[in-house]
Amino acid sequence: MNKKHNLLEKVYQTNDLTKEEITDLLETITSEDREILYSNALKTKQTYYGNKVYLRGLIEFSNICRQDCLYCGIRASNAKVERYRLTPGEILACCDKGYELGYRTFVLQSGEDLWYTEELLGALIHEIKRRYYPEVAVTLSIGERRAETYQSLFASGADRFLMRHETASKKLYETLHPTMRFEDRRACLNALKEIGYQVGAGFMVGLPGQTLADLAEDLCYLKELHPDMIGIGPFIPHSETPLGAEKGGTIEDTLVMVALARLLIPDSLIPATTALGTLHPQGREMALKAGANVVMPIITPTSVRKQYALYENKICGDDHPEDCRYCIERRIQSVGFEVDLGRGDSQQFISWGTDTEFL
Ligand code: SAM
Repeated sequence: MNKKHNLLEKVYQTNDLTKEEITDLLETITSEDREILYSNALKTKQTYYGNKVYLRGLIEFSNICRQDCLYCGIRASNAKVERYRLTPGEILACCDKGYELGYRTFVLQSGEDLWYTEELLGALIHEIKRRYYPEVAVTLSIGERRAETYQSLFASGADRFLMRHETASKKLYETLHPTMRFEDRRACLNALKEIGYQVGAGFMVGLPGQTLADLAEDLCYLKELHPDMIGIGPFIPHSETPLGAEKGGTIEDTLVMVALARLLIPDSLIPATTALGTLHPQGREMALKAGANVVMPIITPTSVRKQYALYENKICGDDHPEDCRYCIERRIQSVGFEVDLGRGDSQQFISWGTDTEFL
């Protein structure tokens, strides 16, 4: 067996590779190797999670953002976006609709919009948990706040928090985030974990200036952090941002990262991201066949969906929540998987709960 096949076998058998080994693999990977990687990642996913794909209802409740990330279509400096905020009542109406459609996790995502204070979010989370007690999990994806705020929102009932680390390269992070600090992002992720949230981290693939060693570092950082969820998507340029003329990430490179994430952190939940579905009509199905096991259909009201344009040509802009629900179900079934509408907690969280019962 040659060196590369040894690496493919090693990551499958041991769920471990060094940064140098990952970089080596990425430098020389062929289309045949990719197929081996996808198939091993799928087998690993089946071992940890079986044939099920978990659904989450995604509510994009505000596109107002105080940050200015160079890649993002809703960055503060983009004066061309029509901004919106959903009121708590409108967010609850989305949850009612989502609940009716069978979702048992609601992901509340927004730009970094401090109009939604700790008190307002706390009351909203409390009401969602009360309304659908005890079935529903609430996931937040609202960016950086004080650790005390994360603590208070956890106490109000929030279960999970998604915050991509975006890139594990400090240099690249600082270039892309003129209003943010690399250390702050990591401190937020550590605080969220410490508080007891199921945490989602993750990164973009194909960022301008990103090297294969940077991508290897992303995977090593995730292995060390051991989050419950890992979101990996291609960078897709938005014309009204400073990176509008750059090349985006490719479907192949992103799928390789999804498969390696599955092999290196086998008990994590990995979404087949909307960005993958935007790059290729079957992008999400391909991700499911490469080790992903979550899909997050959008339940944002159709009237504002197109305004949550992190990148251009985002799919489902004209769809209604019920269209997305059944379209996703058909797509999942078309590649041989089953929809699971339960809470879909991570294996790490489930085994942690079981262990502590005996403490
Ligand atoms: N503000 C929250 C935060 O920072 O975590 C959540 C919303 S943020 C817009 C959600 C994610 O969108 C980011 O973590 C980033 O990875 C992704 N994103 C933004 N612009 C993108 C682009 N042009 N292409 C692909 N993904 C993008």
